[in-house]
Amino acid sequence: MKIKSLLLATFVCFTFVQFALAQTEEKFDFYMRGAYRAAVPRPQSILRFDVGDFHTTYAQMERVIEAIAKAAPDRVKVYDIGLTNEYRMQHIVAISSPENMARLDEIKANNARLVDSRATSASQANQIVQNNPVISWMAYTIHGNESASFETMMQVVYQLAASNEPQTLEILQNNVVLIITGENPDGHERFATWYNSVATGNADRNALEHREPWSIWGRYNHFRFDLNRDNIAATQIETKNLQKAFFEWNPQVAVDHHGQTSQFFFPPAALPINPNLPQPVTNKWNEIFGRANAQSFDRQRWDYYVRDIFDLFYPGYWDSYPSLNGAIGMTYETDGGGFKGLNWTRDDGTIVTFRSAIAKHYVASMTTLETAAKNRVSRLQDFYDFRRTAIDEARTERIKRIVIDPTGDWVKAADLIEILQRAKVEVRWSPNFTMTNARSYADKNSAAANKTFSGGAYILDLAQPQKRLAKALLEPDTPQDAAFVRDQMARFRRNEMRGKLQVKEDYAFYDITAWNLPMAFGVDAYWSDNAAPIAGANLIDENFTAQNRAQKARFTRAEIAYIIPYEQDAAAIAAIRLLKGNFRVSVATKSLNAGSANYPRGTFIVRVNRNQPTIHQTVENLSKELSLTIYGVNTGFQDIGDTGIGGENVVALQNPKIAVIADEAVSQTSYGSLWWTLDRYKIEFTPMTLNSIRNGGALKNYTVLIMPDGAAARYSSALGSGGVTTLKTWINNGGTLVTMRGSSVFAALKDVGLTSSKLVGSSDDDDKDKKPEENEVDKRKEAEQKPSSSPTPAPNRNRQAEPEATPTPENLTDKQDWQSPVLPPIASPSANAGKVPEGIPGAIMRATVDRTTYLTYGVETENLPVLVASGYFFRPSKEGANALVFEREPKQPLTVSGFVWEGNTERLLKGTAYLIDEPTGSGHVILFAEEPFFRGIFRSTTRPFFNSILFNGSF
Ligand SMILES: [Zn+2]
Repeated sequence: MKIKSLLLATFVCFTFVQFALAQTEEKFDFYMRGAYRAAVPRPQSILRFDVGDFHTTYAQMERVIEAIAKAAPDRVKVYDIGLTNEYRMQHIVAISSPENMARLDEIKANNARLVDSRATSASQANQIVQNNPVISWMAYTIHGNESASFETMMQVVYQLAASNEPQTLEILQNNVVLIITGENPDGHERFATWYNSVATGNADRNALEHREPWSIWGRYNHFRFDLNRDNIAATQIETKNLQKAFFEWNPQVAVDHHGQTSQFFFPPAALPINPNLPQPVTNKWNEIFGRANAQSFDRQRWDYYVRDIFDLFYPGYWDSYPSLNGAIGMTYETDGGGFKGLNWTRDDGTIVTFRSAIAKHYVASMTTLETAAKNRVSRLQDFYDFRRTAIDEARTERIKRIVIDPTGDWVKAADLIEILQRAKVEVRWSPNFTMTNARSYADKNSAAANKTFSGGAYILDLAQPQKRLAKALLEPDTPQDAAFVRDQMARFRRNEMRGKLQVKEDYAFYDITAWNLPMAFGVDAYWSDNAAPIAGANLIDENFTAQNRAQKARFTRAEIAYIIPYEQDAAAIAAIRLLKGNFRVSVATKSLNAGSANYPRGTFIVRVNRNQPTIHQTVENLSKELSLTIYGVNTGFQDIGDTGIGGENVVALQNPKIAVIADEAVSQTSYGSLWWTLDRYKIEFTPMTLNSIRNGGALKNYTVLIMPDGAAARYSSALGSGGVTTLKTWINNGGTLVTMRGSSVFAALKDVGLTSSKLVGSSDDDDKDKKPEENEVDKRKEAEQKPSSSPTPAPNRNRQAEPEATPTPENLTDKQDWQSPVLPPIASPSANAGKVPEGIPGAIMRATVDRTTYLTYGVETENLPVLVASGYFFRPSKEGANALVFEREPKQPLTVSGFVWEGNTERLLKGTAYLIDEPTGSGHVILFAEEPFFRGIFRSTTRPFFNSILFNGSF
């Protein structure tokens, strides 16, 4: 304790010196908006350091909030909303006037009536609008290392709880303020603890404290998910906690406080805006809050910007998502703290301090609440009208009904429906019905036809209050503003003409441009312009999917063998879990007949006589846990065909021993999505550093090594030629290396040579100078390789040459992480115009399935929708199998959803491979062109991914 205080004193002292030398902004006074109630403690009286002198940890923050709440029960109430992965409790602090607090439940209930105009008439709504306060959702620290936000939150709580200033009292009378004390507590704790332990308050950009290590990187949560992308699929516990609270309170104003920019950002947002938002209304409120903030900032002579970078298109952010729920959702970005630490030298030599960054958020928070108070009535009215007009709008739009067909994988379909139900989207179910004018998601050009769903179907009629959100998450394609697209195309054309040394223009895309849940999940869906009433289709509640899962988990006890049909992703999971439990599992490599039924290739077989007696209970438990259909068979005799349970084409599987690389070269979100996926299915793996692999020995106990996405050049330099040799020896001896995106680029590097595939447009791409139609997919060619001038990919844009795993702070913005690894390896852009794929932010493309390889077991459709979010296009392997390819002469466009570069993307993507199996010695190298579990949203290639692990050593 003593040592700590001493260190702290030295530290504060040093900070002060820095302050005195270069500080250009006056020290902000957080206590000028009194008079303050003496009984309410200031945060500093508990923390023992001044605002912005140190980083507050989560437990310290909880003590502050608790003390304030205890001293101001007339204004403050704390709600616990759920635990994080690391057992920190997330809180919402409700603050309002004593009169409002006394009737808080009534306010909440009245407010909830504004979300459904079918149940609440215009005049009833008007009563509520006149008499209810506005609900303002003030959320802090979603990116745990954007730390100014965290400190600001305590100052806002104190101001609202303690001050008797007239403006503050006006806020309290007209608002129920909901303070989300920490959206990402686990990430913030990693950052705060690390920063506090190394910081000297140094403003030099090269100082250690501005270089957050890989394993700290507090932007992300425990599973290294970006929580500000997670609202689409709500995979993370923090998102679930927050969404639950959000739909309980139904706020009209929502602010998400960040901190990465050079100057403060507040709305109006940049283009594009999600077209499902009612644009005149969205724009109006963006202007009202933006101008109010501008006034406050001008008064302080603080810099800021609007209408740049931060758009409102992707629905997974904590500004677009509240907006799609009728709130005015806004992102605020302050200019200090976080990677900038206590002090940071700006490009003009002035210094931005942690304290001034906290002050800016504080002023913006308070201004927002004042603006909400002043506009209470019209904000509430627009909130009511948001859903009322949505219902009317749905009746005039083309997509009126969406049907999710669960028969392809009803567990995955249930997962999808639960996301919608958490978001209060109304879903109905019918055991058997015919959809009029059904159009398949899988086939953009298909004619409308009647379609009967006899295996049950989920039905969403868009004429419902949550239409805007439902449509944003489900529509096959979300168009971008035409002027925005034209502008990007013009930049692309100019870039094509630029010389080698000329800096290319950046694109203004913020994120992926396609995400619709059915395609991302790989679940069949249809839409129709006809929403005629359906008899027998009932609205389902939250228990329905759970009950449905339980009913579907069929299990019958076997005398001879258990058959696990590969009709659910969970079949592969069950097989892996059984192998890991030392049970013996086989797979049918041909179509199988067992128990008087036919099953396709890839069906799993668990023979009773080859296993311990505990197999029965284990299989039954797995069936329950994974909602998996498992059939018991009581004879080995097959009715037809050559393959039964005892057939020669039933092959034994090996227990996969899995290692995953977790190190500086690796994209954290890619590693995180793998970690989360393996964890949720309880599949053990060992995270491993590159150093352990390079130095040999570490891999000897493993059969599968997964390399998450990462920068190829960094993988290359971290492993070195010795490491690559170690890898090759291990593969030759039977190991399976699974690569994805950047690590697949690594595998294709000439000096690495783990695959015969070449990257389209790279200097060793033999086919680069051919017209795409001349490139042969399956012809085996002699490997005559031109000498490579640049073996490692060279970045073609000056922005973000580093992978997101170790961002260069100066280049980082909150959303543009798609740009970082988009680095087609080219020597001279202009000389290669038309031959090199330009990276795309993220579109869904149609891949064609080769149903003759084990990698596509469980996939019996002709096509799979896959995400392409780069310029990494892979020539087909000349030596191995190309399990998923983009057709050379597709009958319809390869693009199913999202933005692609006209004249570039599709032309160069044709004839390339998305999934490659490169047999090498006794082992395999398996390359995915992209991440199979991008953000936990994309799951269409779940089976090929698990196949790459599961069949190690068997084929
Ligand atoms: Zn952020």
